[in-house]
Amino acid sequence: MHPFSLVKADSTRAAVEAGRRGGRFIAGGTTLVDLMRETVERPGRLVDIDGLPLRGITTTPGGGLRIGALVRMAEAAADSRVRVMFPVVSQALELSASAQLRNMATIGGNIMQRTRCTYFRDVSADCNKRRPGSGCAARGGLNRTHAILGTSEHCVATHASDVAVAFAALEARVRLLGPDGERSVPFAGFLLPPGGTPDREQAIGRGELITAVEIPPLPRRLRSGYLKVRDRQSYEFALTSAAVALHLRGGVIRAAKVAAGGVGTVPWKLPAVERELLGERPSERLWARAAERAADGARPLAHNGFKVELLKRTVERQLRVVGGTR
Ligand code: SF4
Repeated sequence: MHPFSLVKADSTRAAVEAGRRGGRFIAGGTTLVDLMRETVERPGRLVDIDGLPLRGITTTPGGGLRIGALVRMAEAAADSRVRVMFPVVSQALELSASAQLRNMATIGGNIMQRTRCTYFRDVSADCNKRRPGSGCAARGGLNRTHAILGTSEHCVATHASDVAVAFAALEARVRLLGPDGERSVPFAGFLLPPGGTPDREQAIGRGELITAVEIPPLPRRLRSGYLKVRDRQSYEFALTSAAVALHLRGGVIRAAKVAAGGVGTVPWKLPAVERELLGERPSERLWARAAERAADGARPLAHNGFKVELLKRTVERQLRVVGGTR
């Protein structure tokens, strides 16, 4: 039993101040409460932000979308604007977790969730992310589900979120409110690969609060979708996944946004795949050629070499589905 206090923030300003003084934000609680139960995390002070006015979904000028940090995953997945403008986001949400969890978990909490590496959650195992400098039990242990991209000698854990893969593909931005005011961070720079400090997972300062995720304006007739490959068809994390968005005009691909999940220490943007696609006409040959670049730079571990080929096939299949040649 580890005692903690709980205060309810009645404004974003009060939340930021409480966070600045060392409080941990909690809203849906679907990650943090689990970690506290398992004694992986032992915060002394929780700040309940669930009542803050951060639950709106709004369109932005030019055709972008702003999703409040406290919007529930289920709400965002069901929202007609999300479904019409960015199906890749609603599909990624619907393929995440369970219906009960999607009703509780928030968008902000989803992207802040911590890894599902079993050694991270086993407090008797060595884990640099949980206890810096203690080692990485996964490197010499069972690492079938671990990352092949973005790893370091200190950590090889994957980021578990599906919707973060869609946000990475679409080049979304994270809006933050902190003691020094508001700022907006590109999604690509918000979640941090482990490097030498795997315990530092987000580019967020003390007291900073996620207020929204913003998807920038993209071409109106954007086709998009999310494919998740996993060991069972529900309530399971991705072995591989692909978020794909394509804009075609005159039969030619004018915009291509592609990212992969289940394979990287952070949602893994695939610029080499995108470059292969731009300016080309959809064809079976094109999908295969582009997908061949999906695993560039991969460094498989003892048990997850299968992810290299699986990733290429996942990306190829989803390019075919979204590009319309299936
Ligand atoms: Fe910990 Fe990362 Fe190693 Fe897992 S992969 S045991 S989270 S350091």
